Amino acid sequence: ATPTAVMVATGKGASQGVLIKGGNSLEKAHKVTTVIFDKTGTLTIGKPAVVHTQLFSKMPLLELCDLAAAAEANSEHPLAKAIVEHTKKLHQQYGHHDDHMVESREFEVHLGAGISADVGERSVLVGNKRLMLAFQISLDTEVQEYMSEAEQLARTCVLVAVDGRICGAFAVSDPLKPEAGRVVSFLSAMRITSIMVTGDNWATATAIAREIGIKTVYAETDPAGKAERIKDLQKKGLIVAMVGDGINDSPALAAADVGMAIGAGTDVAIEAADVVLMKSNLEDVITAIDLSRKTLSRIR
Ligand code: ADP
Ligand code: MG
Repeated sequence: ATPTAVMVATGKGASQGVLIKGGNSLEKAHKVTTVIFDKTGTLTIGKPAVVHTQLFSKMPLLELCDLAAAAEANSEHPLAKAIVEHTKKLHQQYGHHDDHMVESREFEVHLGAGISADVGERSVLVGNKRLMLAFQISLDTEVQEYMSEAEQLARTCVLVAVDGRICGAFAVSDPLKPEAGRVVSFLSAMRITSIMVTGDNWATATAIAREIGIKTVYAETDPAGKAERIKDLQKKGLIVAMVGDGINDSPALAAADVGMAIGAGTDVAIEAADVVLMKSNLEDVITAIDLSRKTLSRIR
C-alpha cells in the first residue's frame, strides 16, 4: 500500500477504536488465514467469580480463603481477583467490617500455573494441577473427582495447598463475551479458522470452545508454548493473528504475524501487539482484517 493509503486506513481504524501500530501489520492482516484466541479475558469477559468452594481438610472455610487471598493479593491475574473478592464478601457475610487481609512474603508468579507465597508461618500454593505437580503435591481421588466435575461444567478449578497438602479448591466461572460465538462464525464465513489457546485445562477449555463453535483447542499451554503453537502453524504456511490480553500472551502476540491486544488487557500485552482493540470487543478483530483487505485491494 502507498504511505497515503496506510495513513488513511490507520486513521479510519483509530476512529473506530482499532489502533494499528504500523503499515507492516496493516499489510499482513489481509492475508490472515487463522486467528488464535486466548481464552481468559479474551473470549471470556475476564471477570471470573468463585461459584463454589470445596474443603479437603479440617481447615475452616474462612481460614482457607484468607490464606488463598493473602497469597493472591499481589497477583494481577483475573483468577486472583476472583479469590480476593470472594474472600472479602465472605468476611462481610460473617459481619466482619474491617480489612482482614493478611500480608504475604516470598510471593512468586508461576506463569500459566499459579502462585506461591508464604503467609505467616505457612507456605501456600494457589493454582492448577501443573503447579501442584511442580511442587510434588499429590492429588488424591477426592480432589481429582472434584476437579473433573468442575471442568465438565466449563469451570476452572483452582487448588489451594497449605504446607504441602491440598486443603481446598475454588470452582471459578468466567462468562463468555456475548459476541464471541458470532465472531467465530463470521470469521469462518471469511474462510478464517478460529483456534483457542489457553493455560487452562483441557476439559474446561473444550467445554467453552464447544459453546462458541471453535473446533481446535490448545489447552494447558504455558506462555512459551503459546508462541510455539503459532510458529508451528506458520511453518505450515498459515498466516496467524493472535488475540490476547495478558502478560502470558505477550510472547505469542510477538510471534504472530499480527498480534492483537485487548484494550482492557495488561500493558505488556498492548506493547507486544501490532493492533490494539480499544473497545475490547472481539468484533474489532474483523474490523481490523476488513480494513486491511479493503486498503490492499484498492491499490492493487
Ligand atoms: P489463559 O491462557 O486462559 O489466559 P493463564 O495462562 O493466565 O490463562 O493461566 C492458566 C492457568 O494457570 C489458569 O487457568 C489457572 O489454572 C492457573 N493460574 C495462573 N495464574 C493463576 C493465579 N494467579 N492464581 C490461580 N491460578 C492461576
Ligand atoms: Mg488471558
